[in-house]
Amino acid sequence: MTNADNAAAQCLLCGSELVPVLELVFDTRFGLPDTYSIHGCRRCGLEHTLPRPDQNELNRLYEEHYNFGDVTGRSYRGLRRLLHSLLVYRLWLGIDGDVSFHSRRGHGRLLDVGCNEGRGLTFYRANGFTAEGLELNSVAAARARSRGFTVHEQPLEEFRPQQAYDVIVLSNVLEHFLDFRQALVEIRRLLAENGEAWISLPNSHSWLRRRFGRSWINWHVPFHIVHFSHKTLGRALREAGFDIRREKQITPALWVAQTVIARFCARQGKITGALRDPRLVVPLILLSRFVLFIWLWLNNRVRRGDCLVVIARKV
Ligand SMILES: [Zn+2]
Repeated sequence: MTNADNAAAQCLLCGSELVPVLELVFDTRFGLPDTYSIHGCRRCGLEHTLPRPDQNELNRLYEEHYNFGDVTGRSYRGLRRLLHSLLVYRLWLGIDGDVSFHSRRGHGRLLDVGCNEGRGLTFYRANGFTAEGLELNSVAAARARSRGFTVHEQPLEEFRPQQAYDVIVLSNVLEHFLDFRQALVEIRRLLAENGEAWISLPNSHSWLRRRFGRSWINWHVPFHIVHFSHKTLGRALREAGFDIRREKQITPALWVAQTVIARFCARQGKITGALRDPRLVVPLILLSRFVLFIWLWLNNRVRRGDCLVVIARKV
C-alpha cells in the first residue's frame, strides 16, 4: 500500500472517509522497522492501521515473527508453566478476568479459530465441549494435533466442515482479519441454529490507550488491521446477523504491565525483550492487579476496560 492508497483507504465497516488520529505508531514487540498511523472513520468511528499490509505481506510477517515457543527465555517459560498449572491458572482467571473463555462450561461442538498450539482447546475440552481448532500455521497446528485434537488448516472461507458448530471462539483474532466483515459472515455460516460466537479483542476506547497513546501494547501494528470499540464491534456483529447476548469489559493485568514496559523500553526497529523479563513483568502484574484494582474495576464498569468480551448469538 502506498501513501496514495493510504489517502484513498475507506472504512472497512461503513465505507466512509478515514482521517488520521495518531501518527508514528511502531511495533513495540518484534522490532519491525516501519511506522504506521491510526486512522478513524468520520462516520462510524472504527479505527484502522495504515498502510494496511496485503495478504502476502501479512503471511510473511506472521512466518517471520510468530515463531511459536522458541523466542522465550528459560525463566519466562518457567513463569508460564506455573501460571498454566491448572489450579493456579483457574484461581488467577477468577481474580484477573477470563478473556479467552477458558472457564466457561458447556457442551456441544466448539471451534477455536486461531487455536495456536491448542492450549485453549485443552480447557474447552475439560469444560465439557467437543473442541476442534482452526490454525493456518502448520507448526502450531501440528503441536495442537499432538495433544490429541482435530485441527483444520484451511482459511475460513474455504472451510467446509461436515457438521456445524455450537460455539466458535475468536479470542483476540477478529482484529487480525483483513476483511473482518467477511470473516463474520463465514463464522455465521459455520454455526448451528442459535450457535454462539465468543469474541474478545482490545478496546480502542480504553483508559490504557488514552493514557499511553502510541505505547499501547494493543495497537500491535501492522497485525491488528482494525481497532474496535464497544460501539463499532456491536455494529459489525449486528450487521453480520448476530444478536449480542452478553458483554463485559476486562482489563488483564498483563496488558497493563506490557503497555508500561512498552512505554519505557520499546525502541523502533528493536525487539522489546523486557516484555518477557519476569523481573519486570511479575511486579507490574501484581501492582496492576492488587494496587490498581479499584481503578481497573471502575474503568471496566464505564466501558473503558482494555478488553471487550462478547457472547453473540446467530440470528
Ligand atoms: Zn466507518
